[in-house]
Amino acid sequence: MRKELQDKLFKKYKFLEKSAEAGTMFSACGIECGDGWFDLIDHLFAEMEEISPEILITQMKSKFASLDLNFNCGTDLEKFISLSVIVDEYTEKSKWICENCGKPGSLRSIRGWLKTLCDKDYRKEEDEMNTMFPLEDRIFPKPKKEKIE
Ligand SMILES: [Zn+2]
Repeated sequence: MRKELQDKLFKKYKFLEKSAEAGTMFSACGIECGDGWFDLIDHLFAEMEEISPEILITQMKSKFASLDLNFNCGTDLEKFISLSVIVDEYTEKSKWICENCGKPGSLRSIRGWLKTLCDKDYRKEEDEMNTMFPLEDRIFPKPKKEKIE
């Protein structure tokens, strides 16, 4: 997620600043996903803050095409369970929201790379992949030269 959007969330949620100071993966990498999940994450943070304002985010990224969030809320098991239920709910939601633009999306495979995208961003990413890594350039298996008559 681009920095300006992360900054907005950092201004809104005090627990993010503390999370960033904790020396975790989150401190090093911040929110590792596309801009399209901004609103989703904003709503998730609001719900989490209500349950536990002292929560620490330890890692947050896109994994297997959905939102993956690890947190620490101390040793209160009840709080942990409540927060886990919310996180799971938002992970499910993320499977239907384009990670790039926030519009409705679904699971796509771009040469084996899984990502939740809308039709438009799916075509765009496929085009980009074809430009960056043309199939003709692959090392294995060597494409057969086809004769065009
Ligand atoms: Zn999109």
